[in-house]
Amino acid sequence: MDRIVKGVCFDKKARLALISVTEGVRKAVQIHDMSPLSAAVYARALTAGAYINANLKSKSDRFNLIIDGKGSAGKIYIAGEDGDLKGFMENPHADAPLKNAKLDIVSAVGTDGDMVVIKDMGLKEPYIGRTKLIGGGIADDFANYLYKSEGIRSAVAFGEYITADGVVQAGGIIVEALPDAGEEITFMLEDIMSNFSSLSTMMTEKSMEEIGDFYFGHLHTEFFAPEEIRYGCHCVKKIRNIIRSLGRSEAESIIRDEGAIEITCDYCRRTYRFGPQDVAALFADG
Ligand SMILES: [Zn+2]
Repeated sequence: MDRIVKGVCFDKKARLALISVTEGVRKAVQIHDMSPLSAAVYARALTAGAYINANLKSKSDRFNLIIDGKGSAGKIYIAGEDGDLKGFMENPHADAPLKNAKLDIVSAVGTDGDMVVIKDMGLKEPYIGRTKLIGGGIADDFANYLYKSEGIRSAVAFGEYITADGVVQAGGIIVEALPDAGEEITFMLEDIMSNFSSLSTMMTEKSMEEIGDFYFGHLHTEFFAPEEIRYGCHCVKKIRNIIRSLGRSEAESIIRDEGAIEITCDYCRRTYRFGPQDVAALFADG
């Protein structure tokens, strides 16, 4: 089960989150026919998205995470609605030679652009946080975003073990130093996090819970019950709104020319087909 396990350590002066998104990445690879490199990029973006999702105040809040670094994967989109996560990227077939025997994630994400987080919390205006990418293969970029946009001091490690046969493991670990954590705690957290440069391999040998226990267990750590990470796309309403926004005469004119209006959802690749009667019914509903 994909899950996030939150915890506190250093007498509640720091928070941590252990995140597993293996099944979600496998699902996306299948839907979007992702290359191993695109899958790796997606794994990291999805892990960041799972963290944002799990920290929304209310389950009805929504968010979008957009990473636009002009790399070979193109723009990467992750979104959450009613607690369900989904995502896609412009180029699911990104490819590049291995770099130091690893997937060249930085080249696929790119370094020339922004990380944008939009949170719709049911208020008049959504929250929008935008930071420049620092070329950190999403992990350091996300830590940079958390610090500059939300004032959170964190360290982020993402790992993914992906072979030509598929996604073996994907997820990450995020620690946050809370405001009353002094320099000593911050230093110790950074020191622990430096172990996770090989998180990808570690994840194939141990569960996230075992990794968490091993590295944080001795620091007065308390882990909470795992929260399931769910996936799903609620696009029916959105697609109907797209057709409504065309206006009745434009919609009818497309029907006359093409016989039907077909729209495919970027997130789940479901194709909706609206014939003359469907369009008439849609506008009759108001
Ligand atoms: Zn959809």
